[in-house]
Amino acid sequence: ILISQILEKAEYCKAAKNSLEEQKVPLRRAVTTNNRGQIVSPVRNSVHVNQNLSPNPELANLERAIEGEIVDRSLSVKWDDIAGLERAKEMLREAIILPSQFPHIFTGLRAPPKGIMLFGPPGTGKTMLAKAVASQCQATFLSVSSATLTSKNFGDAEKLVRALFSVARRLQPSVIFIDEVDSILGSRSDSQHEASRRLETEFLVQMDGVSSNSDDRVIVIAATNRPQEIDEAVRRRLAKRVYIDLPDNETRKAMVVKLMENLSKKLSPKDIDTIVKHTNFYSGSDMTALCKEAAMGPVRNLKPDKLSKGEIPPISLKHFKEALKVIRPSVSKATLEFYAKWNEEFGVV
Ligand code: ADP
Repeated sequence: ILISQILEKAEYCKAAKNSLEEQKVPLRRAVTTNNRGQIVSPVRNSVHVNQNLSPNPELANLERAIEGEIVDRSLSVKWDDIAGLERAKEMLREAIILPSQFPHIFTGLRAPPKGIMLFGPPGTGKTMLAKAVASQCQATFLSVSSATLTSKNFGDAEKLVRALFSVARRLQPSVIFIDEVDSILGSRSDSQHEASRRLETEFLVQMDGVSSNSDDRVIVIAATNRPQEIDEAVRRRLAKRVYIDLPDNETRKAMVVKLMENLSKKLSPKDIDTIVKHTNFYSGSDMTALCKEAAMGPVRNLKPDKLSKGEIPPISLKHFKEALKVIRPSVSKATLEFYAKWNEEFGVV
């Protein structure tokens, strides 16, 4: 165990050194130690050295590609678009949005966390929350998933991560959103592939870089459906871990009302209550799929002349009942119980 820990530390230091060398930051200046002799902020000075693209041509190319393909400039998710999740919204407001508006107040003990994990069943609004945070803070939104990291377009995943954080620092304030973080930073094990171990180490180095520099306004938001598979070292760095649960009755009701808003329908409040009653265990995306399916009901089997005249019958409970047969909940009770237990043990708001 000791040897493997030493090897891990050595790998960490090597990755930090590479990162600095590529950004041409003198090691002497960049590496500092805290009073326990641990290396802190291995990449912190790089921001102030380079306000522009990296002097390393390969990294500069990657940075350009990231700005073109990973930076999402079309953020339009507003808080009100996200139904329910009041507690998560409140936490994110306090942890990220207020500090971004009043940075001088949120320092020291009040300093915002640099890593947040949103966990829970798929399709519950984790991505939407991250996007809403970025648009509220007018932050650059950089979104990566394991598909991006293994994409041939970007080449070496480790270098991509390095370039990603470098772009995030340059265009700060930034939100780096890592979707399905478990598939990128899953538990370390003997069988873990050498390349994915190096990738994980690079992430750790970069996350430490942004968290040890209070001037850096870069935050990492990671989303996962399998929080139990995340490596402990990564979990520690994602200091706030927020459970994003399935929508409750009120939230599902709000979703149906909102999604049906601009459509011709004949749904009484009692009908909507019936829909809510039959959609226990449905996620937000299940609800969207259900409403889409119900909206197709009145146009199905409609004669072309009626379609051309736009004579479409209103959507009614009957269409929802049909849709409920096709669209089933994607989360089971056992899975939910598991999340609740994990939340009790590791959730931190
Ligand atoms: P996750 O990242 O948790 O897997 P997403 O944020 O990508 O889920 O949500 C998928 C889709 O489901 C969204 O595009 C939206 O249509 C719908 N959705 C999920 N949760 C909500 C919510 N709380 N409010 C409104 N729509 C939601």
